[in-house]
Amino acid sequence: MSDLTQLTLSEVRAKLADKTLTALDVTEAALARIQATEPTVQALLSVQAEEARARAKALDAQGPDAAKPLWGVPLVVKDVLCTKDAPTTCGSKILENFRPVYDATAVARLKDAGAIILAKANMDEFAMGSTTENSAYFATKNPWDTSRVPGGSSGGSGATVAACQCFGALGTDTGGSIRLPASFCGIVGLKPTYGRVSRFGMVAYGSSLDQIGPMTRTVEDAARLLQVIAGHDERDSTSVNTPVPDYVAGLAQSNDLKGLTIGLPEEYWDKGLSSEVAEACAAAIKQAEALGAKTVPVRLKLSEYAIATYYIIAVAEASSNLARFDGVRYGHRDHDAQSLIEMYVKSRTQGFGEEVQRRIILGTYVLSSGYYDAYYRKAAQVRRLIRQDFEAALTQCDVIMGPVCPTTAFKVGEMTADPLQMYLMDIFTISTNLAGLPGMSLPVGLGRDSGMPVGLQLTGRAFDEARLLQVAGVLERNVPATGLPSL
Ligand code: GLN
Repeated sequence: MSDLTQLTLSEVRAKLADKTLTALDVTEAALARIQATEPTVQALLSVQAEEARARAKALDAQGPDAAKPLWGVPLVVKDVLCTKDAPTTCGSKILENFRPVYDATAVARLKDAGAIILAKANMDEFAMGSTTENSAYFATKNPWDTSRVPGGSSGGSGATVAACQCFGALGTDTGGSIRLPASFCGIVGLKPTYGRVSRFGMVAYGSSLDQIGPMTRTVEDAARLLQVIAGHDERDSTSVNTPVPDYVAGLAQSNDLKGLTIGLPEEYWDKGLSSEVAEACAAAIKQAEALGAKTVPVRLKLSEYAIATYYIIAVAEASSNLARFDGVRYGHRDHDAQSLIEMYVKSRTQGFGEEVQRRIILGTYVLSSGYYDAYYRKAAQVRRLIRQDFEAALTQCDVIMGPVCPTTAFKVGEMTADPLQMYLMDIFTISTNLAGLPGMSLPVGLGRDSGMPVGLQLTGRAFDEARLLQVAGVLERNVPATGLPSL
């Protein structure tokens, strides 16, 4: 691997700014790395090589611009985010030929900051899944061990960053889809508070849960990407108009964790947690104590209902959001159908994969008039209680810590036959989305048994991403380095 592609986003940015490297040098190195590793990793659904080269040349012709914090930096975005004139398939056949006429706000902000969009990352179809095996195109492999899954649904984003094909990526997280692949691929992933990042131009899955966030090789890199994409957008009415702090400056503020109180939910340590994940997370928390943090037990007593609640709310919203893919307004159309209804049925049957169909059926069921009160309304009530649980816990501590996932990355195909088993992978991540809070995955070393990366989850108060980054930044310097896969 060329040393250049192993640089962090922050390092490459500095070398671009002082002209040690040109945007074209960096872009060519990333494209060469993609060419060398993509046959085995399969992280990308499309590569915009010519557009990226042209953009790099145009940037070089103008010269570095100090006002653009990502000037010349090649990035990848998940294929659920609209990119002007470039494919946006959501990992689905139904959008195989979709080329949006506009950029998602998060993508537009990256471009305005000088970034170069190299490629679109593979994902579970419409972000439904935990392994990226639900992509309608191909399954992405984990760069640490290509017989294993990269996690999902932002598995393409996780794998492309871990494989050093780019310097950072955007993922989306509805129930864990940034944190889980970050954990499995040994990188940093941050799901911001609901409302922190505009969802305009993100193809919706569960609109009240979805958030876009950074996936990077370091905490500082995550801070730099979040800085650019965060902030109010009048085109998303749920984006909150609250000031965005200087995340990067915040990182430099401390070298220890004195004064920090960490909440440890009892509920997180007995749910079929594998011993290697428990061990690595416990060691990181011990390290946090050695750095001055205090730990207190907290209760999240409703966590046992989180999966059931999530899989009612998320599928209900999905069934409504995906109604627009009907072969008329959007998406693939069957041309042989003899009637309108037949055209809808055939187009959707051909266009959607099995998991998406399962969720549309479930969602339609829980919203149907006879069952709405029993399922959807009940779930909405439990959701409120889960949120209150978190709010109460976060009055006793500043950050909650626990594992991201009960296991490290498992083998491709190991879980596909059992969707319920697969849903359990989200046990530690989904309540954060139900509560709308920020959550982060930080690599804390390799598991003793599998040799695969382990992620520690940090959950914070609403809009307190700065603290998550700061705490993660201190820990990152003090836990065993996870390193990069030898690919
Ligand atoms: N695995 C969860 C699901 O399938 C979460 C996915 C996500 O966060 N997009 O719904």
